[in-house]
Amino acid sequence: MRAEEHVAAFGTVAGELRVGGKPLSLLAAAVGSTPFFAYDRGLLDQRVDALRAALPPSIELSYAMKANPMPALVQHLALRTDRIDVASALEMRTALDTGLDASRISFAGPGKHPDAIARAVASGVLIEVESRTEIDRVLAASDALGVAPSVAIRVNPPFAVRGSGMRMGGGPQQFGIDAEEVPRVLRHCAGAGMDVVGFHVFAGSQNLSAEILAEAQRSTVALVLELASALERPVRYLNLGGGFGIPYVERDRPLDLAAVGAALHTLVDDVIAPHLPEAAPVIELGRYIVGECGVYVTRVLDRKVSRGTTYLVVDGGMHHQLAASGNLGQAIRRNYPVIVGNRAERAASETASVVGCLCTPLDLLGDALELPRAEIGDLVVVFQAGAYGLTASPTAFLGHAAPMEALV
Ligand SMILES: *Cc1c(COP(=O)(O)O)cnc(C)c1O
Repeated sequence: MRAEEHVAAFGTVAGELRVGGKPLSLLAAAVGSTPFFAYDRGLLDQRVDALRAALPPSIELSYAMKANPMPALVQHLALRTDRIDVASALEMRTALDTGLDASRISFAGPGKHPDAIARAVASGVLIEVESRTEIDRVLAASDALGVAPSVAIRVNPPFAVRGSGMRMGGGPQQFGIDAEEVPRVLRHCAGAGMDVVGFHVFAGSQNLSAEILAEAQRSTVALVLELASALERPVRYLNLGGGFGIPYVERDRPLDLAAVGAALHTLVDDVIAPHLPEAAPVIELGRYIVGECGVYVTRVLDRKVSRGTTYLVVDGGMHHQLAASGNLGQAIRRNYPVIVGNRAERAASETASVVGCLCTPLDLLGDALELPRAEIGDLVVVFQAGAYGLTASPTAFLGHAAPMEALV
């Protein structure tokens, strides 16, 4: 998707990008310092509404908060989604603090510390166990506390999901219990008197193909139908994972949400409702909910020309927005959408590279971009910064101040 399409989604006012209803320069003054991240509530709400409109009404929407754990944003989403998925003890605390019922919080991730497991049992959070060891730790915590735990099994499926930016299922994995081991593990749970409510299958992240996502969901439900016979009680929890991607670079096309929704309607009507009638199907999304609502805003500190190449040196960089620099697991570096936010309606008039303030050539936010001429003091905006931004970046690298975050 091109930068202009992102500008259109946010809108403009007085020739500037509009974020949270304000012209960008006014927002920068309100925040008080650059660089900063801003997350637009209106766009967040639009995204949740679009998901609700496309997905079958029986689907519960879970926010995977590792994408963006800012407490105010998590609180905002706690009131608009059905569940929150957490992957650490601190995330679990943030989710509980929203007031969301603990039974609507799920705790996934390998290597859950025994203390974190005990906190989850004490809180009544649904624990998605990823190994035999974790099951035994849940049982130990439950015995010690005298509280029955809430448990689902995270399954490593026998299939992988093609086209995922990050594969998290199929073949050997640190995630989940191999599907072929699950019946034996369930017998162990039953022997210990542990009620397992259902299954979680999350096989991959950042997928832009509706067809592949639908195929993964069908395979997941088929797998759960097989595993269901090994459960003592009916399946009550059916976490289908998520993996909905967003278009980070120009050649990416947005996911066809209507097509994903149509396939899920068929799957619910034909398989889930008739064969797993007590199962609450869950779709769990991080970046798809928050990624596009966020911008990373930096200020031009210097403008220099080196042997014919123009550089805009900004006061932020890869220490805050690692992904845009191409260093967060990307095989090939491609530009994220970048604009001069206070000149959002100006036509491009030069080719310039945007570099951060770290003393390393890796700190590149935009390579050979077509931009209107930017001056010192202008605001350079990186789009697609709402997910895996600040908390997925090496903020201590070079010792610069932490950026502000604003929910606007
Ligand atoms: C990271 C993660 C997610 C969210 O992935 P996105 O690509 O941000 O949607 C969902 N579920 C689990 C278990 C995860 O680990």
